[in-house]
Amino acid sequence: MKKTIKTQEACEMLYNLSVTVAAERVSLRDAIGRVAAEDVAAKIPVPTFDRSPYDGYAFRGLDTQSARRDAPVALDLTEEIPAGVWPGRPVKSGEAAKILTGAPIPDGADATIKYEDTEFTDKTVSIFSPVQPNTDIARAGSDVMPGEELSSDGTLITAPVISSFANQGFTHAEVYRKPIITVISTGTELCDVGTPLRRAAIYNSNVYTLSAYLTAAGAAAADGGCVPDEPGKIADRIGRALETSDMVITTGGASVGDYDWVTTSARQLGADILFWKVLLRPGGAIMAAVKDGKVILGLSGNPAAAVIGLLRVAMPFIKKLCGRSELYFPEIRVALKEPFRKESQKLRILRGRLEIADSRAYFAAGSGQGSETLSSLAGCDLLGEIPLGSPPLPAGTLIKAYRIIL
Ligand code: AMP
Ligand code: MG
Repeated sequence: MKKTIKTQEACEMLYNLSVTVAAERVSLRDAIGRVAAEDVAAKIPVPTFDRSPYDGYAFRGLDTQSARRDAPVALDLTEEIPAGVWPGRPVKSGEAAKILTGAPIPDGADATIKYEDTEFTDKTVSIFSPVQPNTDIARAGSDVMPGEELSSDGTLITAPVISSFANQGFTHAEVYRKPIITVISTGTELCDVGTPLRRAAIYNSNVYTLSAYLTAAGAAAADGGCVPDEPGKIADRIGRALETSDMVITTGGASVGDYDWVTTSARQLGADILFWKVLLRPGGAIMAAVKDGKVILGLSGNPAAAVIGLLRVAMPFIKKLCGRSELYFPEIRVALKEPFRKESQKLRILRGRLEIADSRAYFAAGSGQGSETLSSLAGCDLLGEIPLGSPPLPAGTLIKAYRIIL
């Protein structure tokens, strides 16, 4: 079976896997950043009644048509209507009610005016220019009408969505359960943060990096710990992680020489290998297997390669696992700011920034594109794609780029 495949094929192989995502109800306070598991429509109008946008007076617009600076119209005050109180009586011709912001407009009134645009006593209010009927009334339903969509299945619940739910009086939101994704770090050289660094050891940064991306995408990342480079131990750890996870990601053991550690482990567990090695750079040392419907993803240990493999190959599937409906990063076309001087035998991903100059969108590649340098990803908002088989490219060449938005 062909196991080295093109990047997009690998990506689609993963996201075409069927997943079942359970839903749960969470309180509105806990709903931020979660993925909506149903379409939600408004039940009541917002505002629920016609109300005043200002502190001022409510009256009939027609009564003020003769008002002039030197000949104001004086209206008799009927009552004061604070917010939260229903009006006691209608406003008739020649009358006005004092009204506060958010208070219901009394029957008969069809306009309001700010108190600072009037002169008033306890008994009357004077208006100095005509006010048309229907002026300055926040109408029932002018913000949201019943039946209007507030959120849709598969979208992220943002602060405005929570606000719209609260306006309806909803206490809870139906969201998808976060998939548990366990990250196992393989490598005898790895040392946990918080412990002294042994000689020849490095801190295990990958578990933090990948967990951060997974969390941002809406998953629950679990730390599967570090495992030394021994296939038996790796298989054992993956096997145990699968029992408690929806997906398992490993890093390391992915260079040419020792690639098979993770693949061998997956085979030992009886998993079906979907692919291993993808025509992608960096991040092409990547393996995917399925065991009992759960994906085991083996990423390179090189920090940047691991992140690029995760984002470019696996993120659409991970978003699907999170219940999200938008699986791909938004795509734009940008002109290379600098020439790219290498040939590309694989699909090459460049970390870069969007720059706008002379109304044109440019891709400014960051310095340090190696598979080990992750610092170059900081501040980048685009992943640029140099297609497989591409010759050296002059500045100005249009390339495809993905906006990194989780
Ligand atoms: P490997 O894929 O195991 O060949 O690792 C490639 C490079 O990535 C090596 O320099 C490793 O030391 C480094 N590396 C592997 N795992 C991690 C990790 N969890 N955190 C940081 N760097 C790592
Ligand atoms: Mg290694």
